[in-house]
Amino acid sequence: MITFYSQDDTRVKKANKRQANAKRGPKSTKIPPMNSAQNVDLSPFNTLALPGRAAAYQKITTPEQLATAELAGQPRFILGGGSNLVLTGDFDGLVLHMAIPGKRLLKEDSEAFYIEAGAGENWHDFVQWTLQLGWPGLENLSLIPGTVGAAPIQNIGAYGLEVGECFHSLTAWDFEKHAFLTVDRSTCEFGYRDSVFKQQGWHLSGRMAITSVVFRLPKAWTPNMRYADVTQELATRQIASPTPQDIANAIVAVRQRKLPDPAQIPNAGSFFHNPVVEAALADSLAADYPTLPRYPQPDGRVKLAAGWLIEQAGWKGKNLGPVGMYERQALVLVNRGGATGDDVRRTMAAVQADVKAKFAVDLTPEPIFL
Ligand code: NAP
Repeated sequence: MITFYSQDDTRVKKANKRQANAKRGPKSTKIPPMNSAQNVDLSPFNTLALPGRAAAYQKITTPEQLATAELAGQPRFILGGGSNLVLTGDFDGLVLHMAIPGKRLLKEDSEAFYIEAGAGENWHDFVQWTLQLGWPGLENLSLIPGTVGAAPIQNIGAYGLEVGECFHSLTAWDFEKHAFLTVDRSTCEFGYRDSVFKQQGWHLSGRMAITSVVFRLPKAWTPNMRYADVTQELATRQIASPTPQDIANAIVAVRQRKLPDPAQIPNAGSFFHNPVVEAALADSLAADYPTLPRYPQPDGRVKLAAGWLIEQAGWKGKNLGPVGMYERQALVLVNRGGATGDDVRRTMAAVQADVKAKFAVDLTPEPIFL
């Protein structure tokens, strides 16, 4: 059974009180000193553990810090959890490390809870917190690495849910307009692992820094168990009517089995998009490869599983120098130790070439390259 808490509930009040000083926006007047440094090693700040230095680095812990003049007028890169990033070398500019904390129930109406979180909150911890307080809806996105602020940029998704479906709005500092903007869902133009932030390059160019995100979580909850891995895990656990936390626990278990922990084996999660191809190509491939997984899309095209293609091309568990494709999930590119951005590019290109030669399908990388 799910318990919903109102804003008057003492647990919610306590949770909000803990966050009260940690947020938010231009209204606050007290600006804590910035944590800044020169010539900073970025390898601890990207989950592929690639080497590279930033000419300048600043940790941002309040939105107001972004509005200071000293940050304008130089190349910037906005860094979140570094879990979707390929560092190709040194960055001759300023890295802004978004570490704004805070999470709270913003409001509720008869249909939904509206939960706000600072851009620097760890995504998985945030999801677990919403579940603990009785606000389900994000459970299928458990254990995705990264931060709350980065989640809308690539519209993170897993097990039949994309974050855009639970998104209400976000606040961002616009360095060009020198103002805080509120960006609603339609403006975000969410697509498959895509948003206006990626399309317009606002993130990579350092034009906009997301400071907080509001999620809309409907009170009418139904389990989302479309993916076989989830149903199988719940069946193994003999759970017929799962709670949101049961689903989260099942997904955590599945992911821990299949995906490498970046702290042990540096990686950036899924390295390629699942290609969406014309139905005719999918049909002709299926004639040659009867076990080819195919997922028809609303527009008539067909989504193929990039991991399956990579595995069939012989890359599961295979390395090229210090970079390889993970032995338990071929879609994950891993740094076996000491790799550089060039090593990643080389392995990426080799995998793309082999998949193209075998299936006539182009693979596009998911992470951004800096
Ligand atoms: P999987 O179960 O091995 O399946 C391979 C692919 O087939 C998935 O990428 C998934 O596409 C697709 N698929 C499977 N069942 C489907 C269904 N019922 N309907 C439509 N498509 C289906 O996948 P996996 O690699 O272990 O990943 C499991 C989930 O975690 C996937 O949704 C994956 O995208 C997600 N994930 C996301 C990230 C990220 O956001 N960066 C990182 C790692 C894994 P989709 O990818 O479109 O779901």
